[in-house]
Amino acid sequence: MRAFRISDPDHIKDEIDHLTSVFKNIGYKEWSITKAIRRAQDRALSEHPPGDKKENQGRVYLPFIQGVTDKIAKILRKKNIHTQFTTCGTVRQMMRSVKDHIDRQQLKGVYKIDCSCGKSYIGETGRSLKIRIKEHAADIKNERSRTSALAEHSSKTNHHVCLEDAKVIAREDNYQKRKIREAIEIIKCPQNLNRDNGSEISGNWLPMINQINPRTLEAQDQK
Ligand SMILES: [Zn+2]
Repeated sequence: MRAFRISDPDHIKDEIDHLTSVFKNIGYKEWSITKAIRRAQDRALSEHPPGDKKENQGRVYLPFIQGVTDKIAKILRKKNIHTQFTTCGTVRQMMRSVKDHIDRQQLKGVYKIDCSCGKSYIGETGRSLKIRIKEHAADIKNERSRTSALAEHSSKTNHHVCLEDAKVIAREDNYQKRKIREAIEIIKCPQNLNRDNGSEISGNWLPMINQINPRTLEAQDQK
């Protein structure tokens, strides 16, 4: 999603609700919208801390989409928020990125979820990433620390587990191969949140695994 910047906290809730519904209508997921808004607000706060004269001069960056963002701009102008149209996102590009996102969510294989602290969780799924992420989200929400390493980490630390950025790092349909690849990725990611190393891989393999060029693996995945 194109970043947009908002710094009019007193009057912004209606606009945020409106923007959220607009972006939902064109295919964005609610969590990605919430995240973009949160980032925009953080950035606005850091650029114009409370007390700053410019604090109430909001500015929003949006791609120009006729009939959508021009209408949003009109609403925002009434609230003294200036819209800066960006030129880099055409409707087609925007729709393609939505489609790419949806397509990537359908992949199965070995996936990686990053945490705000820089650690990562490696997992594998034979269903879609989308379904698996929903399960992780439920585990975190319900603080199922006993059965979920991610839930445990999240509830212990209050870090933000970036489920919205989860991605399949290796596509693999075959269960055995997927388990092995998962184990390799866990070993290759020393800062992992996993409780175990997936399939047992002999420590003798370690020097070789560490030498594997990630690009080589990616090239295999494209086949
Ligand atoms: Zn963390």
